Amino acid sequence: MGKATGFMEFKRRVDGDRDPAQRVADFKEFHDPLPEEELRRQGARCMDCGVPFCQSEFGCPVNNLIPEWNDLVYRGRWREAIDRLHLTNNFPEFTGRVCPAPCEGACVLGIIEPAVTIKTLENAIADRAWDEGWIVPRPPAVRTGKRVAVVGSGPAGLAAAAQLNQSGHSVTVYERDDRIGGLLMYGIPNMKLDKATVQRRVDLLAAEGVTFVTNAEIGAGVDARQLRDESDAIVLATGARKPRDLPVPGRSLDGIHFATPFLHQHTKSLLDSNFEDGQFTSAKGKHVIVIGGGDTGNDCIGTSVRDGCASVTNLEVLPQPPVERAPNNPWPTYPRIFRTDYGHAEAAATGGQDPRLYSVNVKEFIDDGNGHVKALRLVQIEWGKPATPGGRPEMIEIPGTEQVLDADLVLLAMGFLGPEALLAEQLEIACDPRSNYQAAYGKFATSVEGIFAAGDCRRGQSLVVWAINEGRGAARAVDRYFSTVVTSAPREVAVAAAG
Ligand SMILES: Cc1cc2nc3c(=O)[nH]c(=O)nc-3n(C[C@H](O)[C@H](O)[C@H](O)COP(=O)(O)OP(=O)(O)OC[C@H]3O[C@@H](n4cnc5c(N)ncnc54)[C@H](O)[C@@H]3O)c2cc1C
Ligand code: SF4
Repeated sequence: MGKATGFMEFKRRVDGDRDPAQRVADFKEFHDPLPEEELRRQGARCMDCGVPFCQSEFGCPVNNLIPEWNDLVYRGRWREAIDRLHLTNNFPEFTGRVCPAPCEGACVLGIIEPAVTIKTLENAIADRAWDEGWIVPRPPAVRTGKRVAVVGSGPAGLAAAAQLNQSGHSVTVYERDDRIGGLLMYGIPNMKLDKATVQRRVDLLAAEGVTFVTNAEIGAGVDARQLRDESDAIVLATGARKPRDLPVPGRSLDGIHFATPFLHQHTKSLLDSNFEDGQFTSAKGKHVIVIGGGDTGNDCIGTSVRDGCASVTNLEVLPQPPVERAPNNPWPTYPRIFRTDYGHAEAAATGGQDPRLYSVNVKEFIDDGNGHVKALRLVQIEWGKPATPGGRPEMIEIPGTEQVLDADLVLLAMGFLGPEALLAEQLEIACDPRSNYQAAYGKFATSVEGIFAAGDCRRGQSLVVWAINEGRGAARAVDRYFSTVVTSAPREVAVAAAG
């Protein structure tokens, strides 16, 4: 273990953040890494408990060997640390930046003291390894001749591709966007995850032999049945991209947008032209209302503040979470507590107050007379008991609490309702009642032989670390499938990019 008395000697420290009022002037990452000496002290805080809950089912979804690399960091053995980390996690530089760290919620030290700063250490190990040049292409020594098509290049598709390629299969990843990475590239903004960091890993996979085809929408530009004929197996990793809407009066007014296209446009314009092309919906000078908390809502706040919005308000239908764990949310479950994320801090620093309003419901959007939204009407609510046992709590409006807020730009960030239907229809795969591709966790096999599903398209909207877990799991399932099923001899793949 690290230092036996480390947890008693050293206080928890995490990466510093750049000053919120200043960092909004750019879209660069906002974290300031800790110095090496401090990182080693943080590693020393790990108690190497008999039962490390941090890497159990309550903690890290990819079961990172956390106490092992905490100890290696404490001892300054960084190279061994990245080798241990890569055993379980293909992309620690992504999770080290964006994971909400359920591992820390399950840390045993966290019962009596602030948890070990696991995520910061994970990120430091990955960044150090890249800086030192330890992460280099490792193509497989032998090829099996099996061809696997991966549809979608988010973390699930990339993890599946990485694992399948290491097994020696020939992997082609098809992506409808013009860049690889899924929500790592065009969802999570640059200030949280620099796109050069994403591209660096994609380039490494390409150097290891994975083929990437962009601007290739399977099911539209490229026929899914053709892909099926030309592959020995398919992994669907298309994400859950159908956004939840808010069908209240005035919804069709101009100025009301879904969050993900708004974020996508910003990153694309940033990468293409440093915003010179103007190909994005700017929040500059506007009163912005972001509807929906969560990561997406927070990213919209951070982006709007950087654009120079006049104000930003964040509406959430649920009540404000408690500051401490509630009795029904005990250790080692993920703490559902009040947190201030980077966007909230930036909105407070630039606008003078926390942007969040809790327990509110939008009643209507109000027209400016020219078909554009100018305001919205909301009402305060409380949550009553479910009308039926096991049902949903009842939403009750509080009389006399209606309020009108100025709104020039409304961003809907209320979650997602599964993958788009087209691909499932073409491939004739069954969907579950929530419209995700039906495939049992652990098996990842859809109702059609040789077609597997992983990530948000299978489990519903989730996290990057879960997508990596599922991509790895689907790759294992494909390997098992190849070992039990006689597939056809390899053929030349005739599928070309759609554009
Ligand atoms: C704005 C935002 C911020 C988030 N922030 C965080 C965060 O901070 N931390 C965290 O852990 N999680 C976060 N998440 C969730 C996380 O990004 C997702 O859970 C994760 O990316 C899912 O990975 P995936 O590979 O399943 O799908 P995705 O990342 O959605 O990738 C799916 C890919 O498939 C492509 N595709 C779809 N259909 C086709 C087709 N027919 N043909 C070809 N390509 C296709 C899509 O274009 C996309 O690139 C965030 C989500 C959003 C929307
Ligand atoms: S991937 Fe997430 S849960 Fe796992 S160790 Fe890293 S921060 Fe913790």
